[in-house]
Parts: sequence; C-alpha cells; structure tokens
Amino acid sequence: MRHFDLHCDTLCRCAASKETLLQNEGAVSVERGLIFDCWVQAFAAFIGDSHRGEEAYQDFLSQVAVLREAMESSEKIVAYDPHHLQEGVCNAMLTVENGAALGGKLERIEEFARLGVKVFSLVWNGENELAGGVESETGLTEFGRKAVRELEAHHMVVDVSHLNTMSFWDLCEVAERPFIATHSNCFEICPHKRNLDDLQIQEIIRRKGLIGINFFPIFINGESDASFQEIRRHIRHILSLGGEDVLAVGSDFDGAAMPSKLERIDKIPDWHQNLLKHFEPELVEKITFGNAQRFFEENL
Ligand SMILES: [Zn+2]
Repeated sequence: MRHFDLHCDTLCRCAASKETLLQNEGAVSVERGLIFDCWVQAFAAFIGDSHRGEEAYQDFLSQVAVLREAMESSEKIVAYDPHHLQEGVCNAMLTVENGAALGGKLERIEEFARLGVKVFSLVWNGENELAGGVESETGLTEFGRKAVRELEAHHMVVDVSHLNTMSFWDLCEVAERPFIATHSNCFEICPHKRNLDDLQIQEIIRRKGLIGINFFPIFINGESDASFQEIRRHIRHILSLGGEDVLAVGSDFDGAAMPSKLERIDKIPDWHQNLLKHFEPELVEKITFGNAQRFFEENL
C-alpha cells in the first residue's frame, strides 16, 4: 500500500513540544508511518497569524531544523525526490503554510528553494504581505504577484488552501504553472469558507493541479466527527466535476481534530480498505498516491 499526504502540521507540533519526527505522541511519526510500502509525507512549516517579519522567518527556520535533525539522525527519513522514490522510509517533503515566513523579503524565496521547500501556501487565515486568507477581505498584493512569479521561477508549487476567493482569482491572473490546494474540501458538500466552490475546483482541474482531501470533520460535515462515507461524498463530488486526476490526500494531521476512525496515520490502511469497497482499485491508487506523485514528477 502506498500513501501520499500533502499536508500535516507535525513540524510545528514537534518544534513546540520538543518531540522528534521519529517518535512522538502526535498523529504522525516516522515510526508509525513505516507500515506503508511507499510513503510520501509533506511536512508544513506553519506560521501563525500572530507572527510577522523576522519573528515569522525565525519560526520557519526552527521548524526546518526539526526536519533536518530527523533526517540527520535516522536513515528512515529522507528528502522527497519524485524521481528517486524510496521504499520502506518516509520520503519527506518540506512545505510552507503561510507566506509570512518570508518576513516580507522576496529574495528569501531562493533561500527557501535551497532549503528544500517544494510547496508554498501564500497565506494562513488572515492577511499577510502577499494575499488574504479566508478570514480577510484582501486580494493578492503587488508583493504577492512578484512572489508568485519568483516561486514559479524556482519551481515551487503554490498552495491555494486558506486563500480567500478574491486572492484565489487574482492568483489565476498571474499563475502560469499549475497550483494545488493541499488540504481543502468541497463547499458544495460542506459550506465552510475553507472549502473550494465548484468554480475553484473546475479551475484547479483545468490547470491540472491537485486537491488534497482534508480529514478535519468541520470541513467534511461541519460537526465534531465524520464517517468514511462522509469523506467519500467529497471525493464523489470532485469526481462528478471531472476531477479524477486531481484528487489526493491532505490529512491535516497534527493541525486539526481528526475523525474518531482516522485519529492517526496508522489508521490510514483502514480508510484505504474502505475506499476499495466503493471505488475501483485504480482510482483508489490515484487518490491515495498516484495523482500526487505524477504531479510532482511533472512539476518539480
Ligand atoms: Zn491549514
């Protein structure tokens, strides 16, 4: 079984609790994830909206250090290279959740690329120097437009999860490469502003991006727990819009409360088994691994 997860907040958790990626009490650890034949895990350096400027940049660096320490201390976690996938280890992909991490400096994008950042989310829920999140009214700023061009020039993928609608459509005017929503569901199924409406989903499909299904119940059904069946409703909706090739997984482990049946990464096999009861094996493979892997082979 293969598992590709576009988003978790385990770096932030470990930086705060002084735990390691290898072993911890959270939802994702290298130790617990070695159940998969092949496993790619995106680890987001998450910057809260109370952090801006140098403080945000330092926060980013402290989370990068958590990932680097894990890779230096164990052979069981390696940097993800789509062209050299490794089996029996954690293929770790560094991502950024909140462009405030740049501390307002465009030239840091090159440094982020050198540090291994592959996916870059422009905002979290508030507004920052680049754009507006779902709890703000701001669109893409002039700095944000420059940042998008620079990110694309360094083959970093823009993540639109958390962007408000205005910023999303502003981005569409400047983006020349495909972008992705690492951890967002369907507004049509669950009307939460963090979810994507049908026009946004169709735009991501048209641009050959990715949409990672988020397991946070509030984005699945608006309640405190959610069933596998309710997760499947979001998958079926994206399929109904022609999104067979953009569907992926963006768990939000360690960033949000999880359904009782999917509390930690070691429950993922149960979810795979459930998907196989309802979808063809080829489609399940695309959702759980193949689409994301193909996307990064083509776009990194
Ligand atoms: Zn998030």
